Amino acid sequence: MSLRIVVTVKYVPDATGDRHFADDLTVDRDDVDGLLSELDEYAVEQALQISENSDDDVEITVLTVGPEDAKDALRKALSMGADKAIHVEDDDLHGTDAIGTSLVLAKAIEKAGYDLVISGMASTDGTAGVVPALLAERLGVPQVTLLSEVSVEDGTVKGRRDGDAASEQLEASLPAVVSVTDQSGEARYPSFKGIMAAKKKPVESWDLSDLDIEAEEVGLEGSWTAVDTASERPARTAGTIVKDEGEGGKQLAEYLASQKFI
Ligand SMILES: Cc1cc2nc3c(=O)[nH]c(=O)nc-3n(C[C@H](O)[C@H](O)[C@H](O)COP(=O)(O)OP(=O)(O)OC[C@H]3O[C@@H](n4cnc5c(N)ncnc54)[C@H](O)[C@@H]3O)c2cc1C
Repeated sequence: MSLRIVVTVKYVPDATGDRHFADDLTVDRDDVDGLLSELDEYAVEQALQISENSDDDVEITVLTVGPEDAKDALRKALSMGADKAIHVEDDDLHGTDAIGTSLVLAKAIEKAGYDLVISGMASTDGTAGVVPALLAERLGVPQVTLLSEVSVEDGTVKGRRDGDAASEQLEASLPAVVSVTDQSGEARYPSFKGIMAAKKKPVESWDLSDLDIEAEEVGLEGSWTAVDTASERPARTAGTIVKDEGEGGKQLAEYLASQKFI
């Protein structure tokens, strides 16, 4: 038996960097460093754990839709232990929303072949949290989202979803799509050996024509959603410093009261 896992990993702008909108109100991805979305590291980790706990042959493919630099996210996932990577890149993708992104990911997943798709619970930039459900709909397979524990047994994916009031044990027959939360288990750091091995692992590059997708189906034109306006948050103002010259406690209490904290 063999199990083919595809993990969707997004390359996101570094949240500690200086992020801006471009003139067409899309996120400016050219002038900022990026990295593998932290929440997708958990998805890679779960795929690796399923592989380590399985008697079957497990092949883990990591997939990203993103610009040239998105290869960095793939390399990180490969150095964690994934077997191969697919990078979908095309100039016409500029401005694609979640609906369009899910189309591209679904076509790429179908072309790659899969038994199980593992996604993060949300990206750390867009944070829509909708792509896994859109993927399941497009692929016509069950979805089990927001799992904090996941395993595969006899053609079935099982997992636990923790809510405020209850924890549910869920399962779905394969093929299926799951998403995992940041409670699913700390993601491993790539080892030196893993980083060296990743350099030799295959990375395939596909564009829209490889996936039989027309340019009008994606990009700003093909998006179902549009950003009307966007404004950057005002810069943080300097904080209030209370100097303790005997009256510090009183001043602190007065400040907290003025802000309605006490
Ligand atoms: C070059 C480029 C330009 C874009 N421009 C715009 C734009 O102008 N406006 C706009 O609305 N959107 C744009 N997008 C798409 C946007 O960045 C998101 O990928 C998309 O809207 C999904 O939303 P989200 O990230 O909030 O997904 P979520 O639903 O929060 O993501 C959940 C999970 O889905 C998977 N996933 C999501 N996106 C990707 C991806 N790209 N590759 C691999 N896995 C993924 C990850 O596993 C992630 O954890 C662009 C994307 C690219 C690559």
